[in-house]
Amino acid sequence: MEARVRDAEQLSAALTALEDQYLWDADVTYAAAIEFEEEGARLDDERTVMRARLVQANMLMRKGEVAGAARCIWKIHQWATEHGDTTVQARTHVVWANIHRHLGDAAQSLEHSVLAVELLDETATDHMQVWHRAKLADALGAAGSIDAARLRYAQAEELAIELGLPNLHMGLLNNYAYTEWHAGEHARAEAVARRLKDVADQHGFTLDPATLDTIGAIEIENGRYAQAEETLREAVRRYHEGGFEDADALPEFMLTLARAQRFLRATERAQVSLDASRKLCVERGLGDVLVRVHQEQAELHAARGEFAEAFAVHKIFFAAHNALHSSQREAQARTRQAMFETTEARQEAERFREQARRDSLTGLRNRRYLDEQLPMLVNGGGDLTVAIVDLDHFKRVNDQFSHDVGDQVLVQVAKLLETELAAVAPDGFVARMGGEEFLIAMPGFTAPRATVLLDAIRHTIRAYDWTGLTHGLPITVSIGVAGLGDSASPTQAALMSTADRNLYVAKHAGRDRVVSGKPRDSRARSYRDSATAA
Ligand code: GH3
Ligand code: MG
Ligand code: MG
Repeated sequence: MEARVRDAEQLSAALTALEDQYLWDADVTYAAAIEFEEEGARLDDERTVMRARLVQANMLMRKGEVAGAARCIWKIHQWATEHGDTTVQARTHVVWANIHRHLGDAAQSLEHSVLAVELLDETATDHMQVWHRAKLADALGAAGSIDAARLRYAQAEELAIELGLPNLHMGLLNNYAYTEWHAGEHARAEAVARRLKDVADQHGFTLDPATLDTIGAIEIENGRYAQAEETLREAVRRYHEGGFEDADALPEFMLTLARAQRFLRATERAQVSLDASRKLCVERGLGDVLVRVHQEQAELHAARGEFAEAFAVHKIFFAAHNALHSSQREAQARTRQAMFETTEARQEAERFREQARRDSLTGLRNRRYLDEQLPMLVNGGGDLTVAIVDLDHFKRVNDQFSHDVGDQVLVQVAKLLETELAAVAPDGFVARMGGEEFLIAMPGFTAPRATVLLDAIRHTIRAYDWTGLTHGLPITVSIGVAGLGDSASPTQAALMSTADRNLYVAKHAGRDRVVSGKPRDSRARSYRDSATAA
């Protein structure tokens, strides 16, 4: 690919084209997605990096590396959830639904398909609006809810027509026809296939070989073997015209062709088609198609009256079927393990994250948490009041009793602060800043409103029965308050310095009190028992 420099917007548009392409070649798309990831990283564009990784995961899954796909998808989903990126979330759920379908878990696949539709909003592309609904219909069909599937296919069809997306319309009709065929509804499958042909005619499209294969299979079930043979020959011809790279496509077509020919009693032609399919399976290592080749071979022997051969081949089929089944089960187990490990790792990381933001003595939030949260609250635009709470003459507790008793007092004060605050300001939090100093954050509160409540908390601490711990030595706190409106500039530093200064005023005025108001303001108000009543 020629070197060129794209800006973020051009990059995003080109990536959308890659995400929304209807027919793709897994290797080519995977390579393109790697380039997108690199370009996104150079532009420091995290969203592009995540989207490019999702395309890679999708292609990995298409290439059969399901465990690898599962491993990478968690991180993308987590990123999208954290950033409220509904489009990336919705796309993630579609890939996830496919992974579960590969695992044979129709229920999980359906759950993710439902989410992929629920998350569609005005940021979703037209392609997603149609395709996610079509994928939900597929999942409903696979889960055996054929009526619900039909309803969703109809919705997707309507949208595809309205939005002018005939390519997708054809794609979803192909899946619709397959779903009906798979459900044993051969007449309905035929009706859908007919509509598919009509749409193709209407828009001057030629049907792609995979669609012809589906139509041929439907024709066989409806007893139109000669027509099926013709349809499949056409599929093979189109395949050879190129532009269609699926490794297992051609042997699948040859196999369906052989079936049609067997039903026509053209057993020699059938044998030629089947041999061609077998050769391709062996060359390309396509175990699952090969199993069905063995099965068809047994049928073909039987059709020729060669029952001993039929039986022998049937035994081969049976052994191959079982071997395939167990290797598929192993692959499924590997993917489940990968998904489990990523969940575990994620939970472990969350536990660690949470622990690193707690104070080990009191269990309260710590300084680190405070430094992360406060800027968000300060810049959030709403009211905010903070208060620094400092124990009075705490040194005396340590000196008169022990450090251990001091610790127990700190733990009890922390408990009182947290319980009292939760009752009046559930959106707020208490953090231990260090030593015997705590910080209370009260988002949504102006300083005057907060001060009244903080004074009640101060009172609760003084009134607590401390005799068990300090044998009558009182435990009191001084509190310095600062509201966002009190500072010249609404910054975290200004807020903390106002609170600090008010705490200093409280200490010097005799402790056991709450002080709020602007710094250097002679009217800074001090709350003690008498002041609260005023
Ligand atoms: P003031 O009313 O002026 O705040 O007096 P104070 O004695 O509380 O103030 P100062 O800041 O001088 O002393 C705080 C003491 O808190 C000093 C230190 O020994 C004690 N301290 C700090 N952290 C801990 C802790 O984790 N556990 C215990 N038991 N004591 C601690
Ligand atoms: Mg102190
Ligand atoms: Mg103190």
